[in-house]
Amino acid sequence: MKFPKNKKIYCAKCKKHTPHKCSIYKKGKDSMMAHGKRRLERKKVGYGSFPKPIQHNQCKVNKKTTPLYKCAECGHVQVGKAQRLKKFEILNK
Ligand SMILES: [Zn+2]
Repeated sequence: MKFPKNKKIYCAKCKKHTPHKCSIYKKGKDSMMAHGKRRLERKKVGYGSFPKPIQHNQCKVNKKTTPLYKCAECGHVQVGKAQRLKKFEILNK
């Protein structure tokens, strides 16, 4: 699916329509100090003790892609609707 690089949409912070720049959301690095991660690391200690089932056969073909819209005036970032797409393309116009 093709997305325009610049789009004029409503900004909740400016309370009017402003030009927004489109980009793709990328997951940040996992924190080793998060509570869930610490709990998992503690459970993984020892022989034969991986607590969660490992999924091997995936039924979904595509991963979800989330577009981000950044306001050109105030820099407020809006999260767009996540969709399952084969190809995510940002048009340079
Ligand atoms: Zn704004």
